[in-house]
Amino acid sequence: MSIPRVDLPADARLDTLAVREGLPPSAWGENSEALFLTSCFVHPDAATAARRFANEEDAFVYSRFSNPNVTIMERRLAALEGTTGCIGTSSGMGAILLMIMGLLKAGDHVVCSQSVFGSTIKLLQGEFGKFGVESSFVSQTDVAEWQAAMRPNTKLLFAETPTNPLTEVCDIQALADIAHNAGALLAVDNCMCSPALQQPVKFGADIVMHSGTKFLDGQGRVNAGALCAPLEMVEAKFVPVMRSAGMSLSPFNAWVVAKGLETLSIRVLAQSASTLALAQWLESHPAVARVWYPGLLSHPQHELAMHQQNGIGGAVLSFDVKGGREAAFAVIDATRVCSIAANFGDVRSIITHPASTTHGRLSEAQRQAAGIGQGMIRLGVGLEHLDDLKADLARGLDALLA
Ligand SMILES: *Cc1c(COP(=O)(O)O)cnc(C)c1O
Repeated sequence: MSIPRVDLPADARLDTLAVREGLPPSAWGENSEALFLTSCFVHPDAATAARRFANEEDAFVYSRFSNPNVTIMERRLAALEGTTGCIGTSSGMGAILLMIMGLLKAGDHVVCSQSVFGSTIKLLQGEFGKFGVESSFVSQTDVAEWQAAMRPNTKLLFAETPTNPLTEVCDIQALADIAHNAGALLAVDNCMCSPALQQPVKFGADIVMHSGTKFLDGQGRVNAGALCAPLEMVEAKFVPVMRSAGMSLSPFNAWVVAKGLETLSIRVLAQSASTLALAQWLESHPAVARVWYPGLLSHPQHELAMHQQNGIGGAVLSFDVKGGREAAFAVIDATRVCSIAANFGDVRSIITHPASTTHGRLSEAQRQAAGIGQGMIRLGVGLEHLDDLKADLARGLDALLA
């Protein structure tokens, strides 16, 4: 016996898979997926239980490592990313933890962009450094630096594109080539785009990492994460670690994310359209010194971003206001629609001052090296009306000129 599949046409398109991929309904024929809030599953007899525990028969056993809601989310996300396998985790950071534990051992080496999510750097350098996994951090955009950092013991390259808050884009295909020439793997954190815009495996990535907390849920409700990879890798490297270590995705959170995936594409496209309009408007505003958004012609990697991201810039932008921290705080405090918080990928627009929040733990020198100034504001654009968002920002920006 194995866990059954939904009967879908082999050529079903991504929009169809986003809604329909998962598991067939239970005996009750529910149309929307049921919630399986159960920690364990019952077996018909002792011999069947023994086979299932020995992995000789595919069935749900115990929700630390198998649950129908988690399987639905995994199958749906794998379909969207174009991988044969996927494993859900408790958070995005849990996904990176699972990846490193599953693939590496003491003495192995990782090459990672220096512009990735701050907790990713802390996890690699701090936590895994303690266990003898070494990491080198290199320029997000300079492919030669990645090549130069390769060592005989390099097993993994880790990139995130675009980055947050500067929206720097890296060349996924070039990094995949460097990895594969050295017998290493390339993992890409695809949080900022989601598979609605970018499928890193198309450009040679081996593993796609997600924080489901961002666009996949899309409505700011739960923490979740996932690794999308070849099924053989998921089964051989990740499932055994999940069974022992338990960075498991809760069934409820999996259900929320699976429902979120149904509307991922229309949300991300609508939010991206508003973001491009806001980016163009901000670029022409006299109180704004600079705008970072891959969809703008002025973005240094605009062409590469358009190539990798289906011609779309995404739903996160950053801009520098003239006048530093005081001016940035005034613009943030003048908003009435946006949420002052530190997240993105939500249908509610979120406005953030990176230098004092997400990047507040860096020293001023580190922040300057990273290009994150006191006048910088990040905006995760939601689904509110574009004109209301524009008015929300204009209130503070126009006041700076008065
Ligand atoms: C949020 C985020 C993470 C971490 O995800 P959590 O679900 O918060 O653990 C990792 N990478 C990027 C790019 C993120 O934005």
